[in-house]
Amino acid sequence: MAFDRTIRSFFLAEIVKGMALTFSYMFKQRVTLNYPFEKAPLSTRFRGEHALRRYPNGEERCIACKLCEAVCPALAITIEAEPREDGSRRTTRYDIDMTKCIYCGLCQEACPVDAIVEGPNFEYATETHEELLYNKEKLLANGDRWEAQIAANLAADAPYR
Ligand code: SF4
Ligand code: SF4
Repeated sequence: MAFDRTIRSFFLAEIVKGMALTFSYMFKQRVTLNYPFEKAPLSTRFRGEHALRRYPNGEERCIACKLCEAVCPALAITIEAEPREDGSRRTTRYDIDMTKCIYCGLCQEACPVDAIVEGPNFEYATETHEELLYNKEKLLANGDRWEAQIAANLAADAPYR
């Protein structure tokens, strides 16, 4: 036994075995991604950064029913609303405190007009707390930015609902 160990040490057998293993992996398919240059595919149900959507004519979808505010378990949503001159009801304030949000998706589920959604964006880390206090302007801008992907995801998920 001691003789075996001596021989193995003398010929650096463990190092050679280790290097052979390392070398063998050089020719296998990589399981890691070179993020952020490469990204893994996302589920159509991925619950990322929130967005408020518009209709194709530019009108806001949200009708200020406040169901999302009522259902939010984290009390992260704050809405104020007023009727417009034409009698339609729209929000004057729509805030989400993203630092309270637990990404449960209930706001999206509750919305009768698919206005508030959790989009595909997960790259919105900030340096300050204040930057994560989203207002209506920010949420609508998110909707405008991600509408194509959000609409495609909702359409892909529709048959399962
Ligand atoms: S995802 Fe959940 S916690 Fe976040 S705002 Fe919507 S309902 Fe509230
Ligand atoms: S986002 Fe949807 S659920 Fe929330 S107030 Fe607007 S219409 Fe109602």
